[in-house]
Amino acid sequence: MRFDIMTLFPDFVDHVLGESIIGRAQKSGAITVCSHNIRDYSKDKHRRVDDTPYGGGKGMLMMAPPIYDCYQAILAGYPAAEKRHVVYMSPRGRVLNQEKARELAQYDHLVILCGHYEGVDARIIEEIVDEEISIGDFVLTGGELPACILVDAVARLVEGVLADPECYEKESFSGGLLEYPQYTRPVEFLGKTVPEVLLSGHHANIDKWREEQSLAVTRKLRPELLEKQQE
Ligand code: SAM
Repeated sequence: MRFDIMTLFPDFVDHVLGESIIGRAQKSGAITVCSHNIRDYSKDKHRRVDDTPYGGGKGMLMMAPPIYDCYQAILAGYPAAEKRHVVYMSPRGRVLNQEKARELAQYDHLVILCGHYEGVDARIIEEIVDEEISIGDFVLTGGELPACILVDAVARLVEGVLADPECYEKESFSGGLLEYPQYTRPVEFLGKTVPEVLLSGHHANIDKWREEQSLAVTRKLRPELLEKQQE
């Protein structure tokens, strides 16, 4: 799967996504992540990409033409038939969840636009964006962190990124519940011991215990997830 990120801060996203599992997935070729500096497409001699909003108001807005030219340059190398989706990271968008990450992982190519300042000219959204996605009901200074979060959440569902698909098939949200408590060595820590059943080697009992724990944890931490399941 390929991710192209349009941003004013390509070093920021390259750095974050160059680390750990996502960085290794890029090296192994399981995914490709490419950042593009929107400023490179400015026709202004000072490489300006923002201007004041029509109608007044505080702050600056990213202009449409450099974003459009950046987008066209990205498209130039790819067949029109490709399963592509263009996302604008935006606090107005639908809030990202695991279901949306799974849906986005079905595309061959995600193109992600990061806004900055007060956001972007509305016409670029109308022209190139398929969907606005938010990472939560709060406002950040720019779309770079949200874009990195989106790439991480989607990329780990792509074949070859995690060592074993079971890693994401049996975790929080995969079956509508949160994950059960997990333990590793040592058996005893500060007087607390690992639950006996996990040391028993009895897989049916372990599965049953984990199911019960998942339910209990969900009821305690996110009861609304259970209500959603009953709807
Ligand atoms: N004026 C905009 C509004 O009120 O909706 C907020 C602009 S915000 C300061 C600048 C940029 O940060 C946005 O264009 C968007 O790309 C990004 N951003 C901020 N909060 C976000 C969130 N919760 N989810 C996704 N992107 C966000």
